Amino acid sequence: MCVTGAGMTLELLAPAGDAEKLRFALLYGADAVYFGGGAFSLRAAAASAFSAADTAGAVRLCHSFGAKAYLTLNIYPHDEDIEALTEYLRALASTAGDAAALPDAFIVSDPGVLGILKEVLPGVGMAGGPEIHLSTQANVTSAPAARFWYAQGVRRLILARELSLPEIKKIRDAIPEDMALEAFVHGAICMAYSGRCLLSNYLNGRDANRGECSQPCRWNYALEEAKRPGEYFPVEEDGRGTYLLSANDLCMIEHISDLVQAGVSSFKIEGRMKSAYYVASVVRAYRWAIGAAQKGEPYDPLWFAELEKASHRRFSTGFFYGVPGKDHTEEITEAPAYGEGMEYIRGYEFLGNVLGYDADSGFARVEVRGKFSPGETIEIFGPAPGFTEVTVGELYDEEMQPIDSANRAMQIVYLKTPNPVQVNDMIRRAK
Ligand code: SF4
Repeated sequence: MCVTGAGMTLELLAPAGDAEKLRFALLYGADAVYFGGGAFSLRAAAASAFSAADTAGAVRLCHSFGAKAYLTLNIYPHDEDIEALTEYLRALASTAGDAAALPDAFIVSDPGVLGILKEVLPGVGMAGGPEIHLSTQANVTSAPAARFWYAQGVRRLILARELSLPEIKKIRDAIPEDMALEAFVHGAICMAYSGRCLLSNYLNGRDANRGECSQPCRWNYALEEAKRPGEYFPVEEDGRGTYLLSANDLCMIEHISDLVQAGVSSFKIEGRMKSAYYVASVVRAYRWAIGAAQKGEPYDPLWFAELEKASHRRFSTGFFYGVPGKDHTEEITEAPAYGEGMEYIRGYEFLGNVLGYDADSGFARVEVRGKFSPGETIEIFGPAPGFTEVTVGELYDEEMQPIDSANRAMQIVYLKTPNPVQVNDMIRRAK
């Protein structure tokens, strides 16, 4: 379901690194989902589940939820990649069979990929066919660049992350009305220019621009003197180590209205490599925030509290309110300048999914993902706001034998709950 704000249709766009994450993104409120096309997106590992055949199935699932499906093909290919890319697109065209199984849009960065796409799938970019969306990787930072891509058939810009809100507004005012603006609002960001980065190539030969980034900007660095191998001299920013290159995570949940006013109509969550729990938690929080922005309701700290329960680095507002730096003061949490991302904060642990519930007995059937035991306090939540706090009581295995703890990943257990729960609810616990 899309909502309308400031004369625009607003869209919550979620990542899907595999089929399970796709399903939870849809269940927890995404209007649209993006996933990688084979080895041709910038998350090659996350995309491995989406072969051409998988893509058609994923698209159909999205459509059955009334949601849109966007296929990411945003690598910068070298000539050696072209044949495989063309084959992938041919397989997609023949597997899809009908237009209903084709993605609603293809996300590209490279003009060559765009050309191949139009050649292999002639309806792409035409009226009634799948749209072309330009990846943030293409680094569009001005209205002339936007208009250039419009002339190539692009109908949505995924804005470079280095743009401020006034710059976005300026672009919005200078481009055709039928060109939509999409912006990343939550998740990891690169310290390099919208991902145009060679750190990973240089340090371990994995090409970030062909979907293989090993994220060396997140590593903890030390100093080593050439003649004393193995002796590391700490260069400490603080007691936790040195993360000179690690950017904070982006979090714009408090500022949805500002983005709408600047002309952004699609709100994108980063994280195809993150867990299904992460996707569900972040999607539900932004679902509420976008709904409230639509109705003109005020910011609710509950949304941010929900985001804090999913793993994250310190949050910031990126470049939206100006160039971030040490003195940057626009962030939501305490003193999180752009380059102080540091390590992940994981305050909560994902324990399992509800597979079924028997109202007569009060037992929930649960697929276990993390250990929990009777006497512990857990939280159960679904797509709706809030959660239920439960003290774990009786716990049984699949044969209804009492057990002391649920402790094996994918184990099926029965958990007595005082309140009704729903299939696909999730269970978590504060660490
Ligand atoms: S190394 Fe870091 S900054 Fe560079 S592309 Fe990878 S995630 Fe982005």
